[in-house]
Amino acid sequence: MKTSVHGIHHVTCIAGDAQENLEFYVGVLGMRLVKRSVNQDAPDTYHLFYADAAGTPGTDLTFFPWPNMGPARLGIGLTVEVLLAIPSGSLKYWRERFKQNSVVSSTLETRFGEPTLPFIDPHGLRLALVETDENRQFVPWEKSPVSPERQVRGLHSVRIWEDQLAPTEMLLTEHMGFTSLGTEDGWHRYAVAGGGSGKLIEVKVLPEEHRGRWGTGVVHHVAWRTNDSDEEMALRDRIEGAGLYPTPQINRFWFKSVYFREPGGTLFELATDGPGLDYDEDLERLGERLILPPWLEARRKEIEAALPPLEVPRGRV
Ligand code: ZN
Repeated sequence: MKTSVHGIHHVTCIAGDAQENLEFYVGVLGMRLVKRSVNQDAPDTYHLFYADAAGTPGTDLTFFPWPNMGPARLGIGLTVEVLLAIPSGSLKYWRERFKQNSVVSSTLETRFGEPTLPFIDPHGLRLALVETDENRQFVPWEKSPVSPERQVRGLHSVRIWEDQLAPTEMLLTEHMGFTSLGTEDGWHRYAVAGGGSGKLIEVKVLPEEHRGRWGTGVVHHVAWRTNDSDEEMALRDRIEGAGLYPTPQINRFWFKSVYFREPGGTLFELATDGPGLDYDEDLERLGERLILPPWLEARRKEIEAALPPLEVPRGRV
């Protein structure tokens, strides 16, 4: 059976201080805090989700703030950059906004024909804004400090480093449904589900590079969209058949997840589109209170006391 993912579902990264992370992604990038939860494997750490107004799959950038983790080392087997889509014609506005907020950005580039502005978040994470006209599922957030016509549309692509191309390319094209779109500046671009913004990955081969190491300011994993649990399990079988080691399916409540390392070592996840981030909260009130998985509810008081307080930056009223 032909199996395929349908694009990027979310990207999860490691941040430093939680409040600084919140101020940057809500206050500067204008994304909505759509879920305030804890790392289900380490509940003394927040898990913060930033997305469009509705938490649409493909718009979601999430963080574990681990301020004491030590710096990351970029290298083989890591996602080294997260690209975010913005509407065509809005880069001028964003450059000015970055200047006003002292965001470190580099010079404007054109990548695969798309105007791209690389920048770095306060904890060292490498990102880029990419102008695109492509139609995306997106719900504007009325209270964002950024006006709806300039808001971040969602995840555009991710870039990973590998020490060899063939095994990763084989996984992407033979088992995950990607096709090759060609190469530019050493970056091999692949697209899935017809391609376009949010359905891309780019791979660079750097055989001399050392292996990467997780730490503050780096991507933890990239999750790929699956329609439902059955499709996810079919993909899981396929990945296991390819000689990789997917985890059992894990219920994350807002979606179901399977994790595996691609042949170069980068951590991937399969995640179902449903039930969605409004499964346990009203859409209106997303992100306002701490959401705990049921097995941690009994420890809510203790968990809340151990987490630093968070103040959400005020957007437009
Ligand atoms: Zn994830």
